[in-house]
Formats: sequence, structure tokens, C-alpha cells
Amino acid sequence: MKKLTLFNTLSRSKEVFEPIEPGIVKMYCCGPTVYNYAHIGNLRSYFFEDILKRVLLFNDYKVNHVMNITDVGHLVSDEDEGEDKMEKGSAREGKTVWEIAEYYTEAFKNDIAQLNILPPTIYCKATDYINEQIDLVKCLEAKGYTYTTSDGVYFDTLKLSDYGKLARLDIEGLEEGRRIEFSDEKKHKTDFALWKFSPKGQKRQMEWDSPWGIGFPGWHIECSAMSIKFLGKTFDIHCGGVDHIPIHHTNEIAQSEACYGVKFVNYWLHGEFLIEEKGKMSKSAGGFLRIQTLIDKGYSPLDYRFFLLMTHYRKKIKFSFENLDAARNGYNNLKSKIAEIKSDKNNKPDNEELVDKYRGEFFDCINDDLNVTEALAVLWDVLKTEDLNPADKLFLTEEFDKIFGLDLDKVEALEINVTIPPDIVELAKKRKEAKLNKDFKLADEYRNQIKEKGYDILDIKGGEYQIIKNKE
Ligand code: AMP
Ligand code: ZN
Repeated sequence: MKKLTLFNTLSRSKEVFEPIEPGIVKMYCCGPTVYNYAHIGNLRSYFFEDILKRVLLFNDYKVNHVMNITDVGHLVSDEDEGEDKMEKGSAREGKTVWEIAEYYTEAFKNDIAQLNILPPTIYCKATDYINEQIDLVKCLEAKGYTYTTSDGVYFDTLKLSDYGKLARLDIEGLEEGRRIEFSDEKKHKTDFALWKFSPKGQKRQMEWDSPWGIGFPGWHIECSAMSIKFLGKTFDIHCGGVDHIPIHHTNEIAQSEACYGVKFVNYWLHGEFLIEEKGKMSKSAGGFLRIQTLIDKGYSPLDYRFFLLMTHYRKKIKFSFENLDAARNGYNNLKSKIAEIKSDKNNKPDNEELVDKYRGEFFDCINDDLNVTEALAVLWDVLKTEDLNPADKLFLTEEFDKIFGLDLDKVEALEINVTIPPDIVELAKKRKEAKLNKDFKLADEYRNQIKEKGYDILDIKGGEYQIIKNKE
């Protein structure tokens, strides 16, 4: 079977994964800024990290997974300028920043639970580790990497010879461009804030004393400080969305490596974006889609999980409701096939050799840089083959679902002998009719009524369907 290989952004190539300590993986994933709900694009990033974690577990690693909760104000722009996101949320809702942080942290945890995303081993809140962040800035100051301007303490990026290696930044080119564009106190375009001062004469809701004056930490310092605290100076895997490559992760590397003088992270993994017709989905632009928006439209969170499974994590996904409908159909077909197998009374002997062959094929797919899309095709081969008995098929389905996380073990057998009440049959017919008339809103309403009465519909190819009784 293939060894686990992962695409490392640092080398821009697939590498065989070897953890520092045998059998244990130390992994840090950048978490949410809790000033608003997560949108379905953000959730794509956490889904990709979930697949990574499940694949590591499938490979028998113990995974120490740390995720930060950014509950302190990052500034809206990447240039350390603009409004503070947390204060902005507080003004919008008339709550304190602390209340905002608590509310949206819980909302986030609820969203990921609905998507069957396994929670991290440790959640760490930035505001709980302000001292550790100050200590790291002190270390950088002692080593001569900082300078102070009227609004904060900055990292002098040109003092670090390999600054920008992750993103392969063209520092000279950026500096050239900057002379025309910028006239602030920063020495170089890529320099960034480690500590920001509270504006004079203004009391912020979140501010702390420090050797440099009252203020708050810069955007990147929390991840360096907390990853070192929980995972050590060098750890195995760090992940996030692709937008983090040029700034946030580049600056985390700079801070950690400048202070400790050792390699920060061995494998950097980045998930591509979910985009809409109009471009990138973003919170600051407003009007974004949440998982609850999908639920309100009659989709289940796992329909969305299935939708995400259909594209490799390093490719962009275009979101549209037509694409989500196609995914929902695919997911329903899968469940319907499993339900059929559960009712299959055929008792052919076990075919261990074939079970091992399919398990091996599946392993090779997921170990090839998390190729879950091909792994799904292996599941379909298993379900369709004539050479496995139902028990073997169901064993493999449950095994593979450790990666997919689609609750495939909860699919009920088709209860052939159960008589479906006539009102349910009637609602199902009306739903089919509404779908034929392309009135999907009405079709969803009928489906919800069916669900409320304890039944559900499995769509089968060609517009046909099966009524099933939900578990009590
Ligand atoms: P934020 O809460 O804005 O810090 O973002 C949380 C995570 O979502 C980060 O890892 C981002 O890289 C990621 N992210 C932001 N927008 C998208 C998107 N449209 N698609 C996928 N991931 C995203
Ligand atoms: Zn981070």
C-alpha cells in the first residue's frame, strides 16, 4: 500500500509524510475570527483539515490537533490598517466584544459539528495567551528584529534573509512598487505589526499593558505563540486556506524562526477557495451563505459535505445551488444503494481477498494527497460489484466512511414490508410533481412535511424515489 504523501506548499511538491515523533502528528490549523458566523467558504477549509485528520487517523497516527480562536481584533485590511473586526461586530450588534466572541465561537462549534467535522484536541483563545505573545515580541526585540513607529512595534522583514520563502515573494519587486504607493512609517512594504498601540485618548474594549505601551497584539503573533506553546518550536503540519500563504503564514514563519532559530513547520498544507459566480465569498462583503442558510433551503449539512467531497482540496470549487442539487442527488443515490444492500438477503461466502483489494485501492487514493474524490469511486465499485456479499460491502462502507464522514452507517434498510401511510405517499407524489414542474421550493416544503412525520425520501436516478422511515 502507498505511503501517505502530502503536497507541501513549502516545496510545491508531494512529499512522503514522516512525523517528527513516530506515531504522533502535531498539527496546527488556523481557526476562525469570531466576529461573525462562518460562511460555507470558511467551512470548506475546516472540512479539508478534517479530511486530513481522518486520513492521518486511518494511517494509525495519534493526532494532536490544535486550533486557535481569534477573539482579539484583527484589522480589516491585511496592511495592519482599517477597522478592528471584533469592535466592528460589537458596534453592529450592540454587545460587548467579549459577548460577540463567545456567541460566534459557539456558533462555529455548532456549524462544524453539523458537518461531522471532528473537533480539535485543543481550542485555544488568543485572549487567554496574551503574555505568551508579549514574550515572543520581547524575544524578537532582544534579537534586533523589531522597530517602533507611532502606532506600534513592527517586524523588520528585511532582517530575515529568507523572509517570504513560503510564498516565494519577490521582495525586491515589492519594495520597488512600494516607493510609489506608500509613505507610511513602515520601513518596508512587507513589515508587519507585532503589537499595536491603542489610539491616543481612546479606550478600546480589548487592550492590555505591555513593555511598549497599552495596546493589543498584531494579527500573526497569536498563532506563533500558541502553536509553540502547545506543539513545540518545530512541529509537523500547519494548515489553512490559500489566502494565508503570502501574509499570515509567511509572517508566522518569520516570527517563530527569527526568535527560535529552528525550522518552524515541516509540512504546510493549504486548501483552495470556494467561489461563487461573482467571485470569492467573503464576510466583509456581507450577504454570505451560512450552513444554516442551506438548512433553511431544505438541504442537510451532509449534502454540503458530499458536495465538498466531489472536488480535491487543491482545486477551486464553484458554488451554485444547481451544483448542490447535483451533489444531493449523488448522496441520495449512494444512500439508496446502501439501503438496498441492507435489505439484500443473499448470503454468498466472504471474499476476503477482494475485500483486501478494495481496501488497498481506497488506501492508495486517500494516501495520494487526500484524493477523496477517487476514493468515492472505489466505494461505488464496492457497492456495485457482484462478487461481494452484503456483509462485506457494508463492512467496507463503514470503514470508508471513517474518511467520508457521511453517516452512512445510519442508512436504514429498505423496509419492504412496512406500509407507508397514505398521507406520506400523497405528499411524496406531490413533491415529485413539484420537482417535475421545477418548483423546487414547493418540493422542499413537501419534503419537510414528510420529514416532520418521521419519513424521508431517497431520490433515485431518473426522477424515481423511495420512501423510507427515519430512525426513531
Ligand atoms: P477567517 O475566519 O476569515 O479567519 O477564515 C477562516 C478560514 O477560512 C481561513 O483558513 C481562511 O483561509 C478560510 N477561507 C476564507 N474564505 C474562504 C473561501 N471562500 N473558501 C475557502 N476557505 C476560505
Ligand atoms: Zn494562524
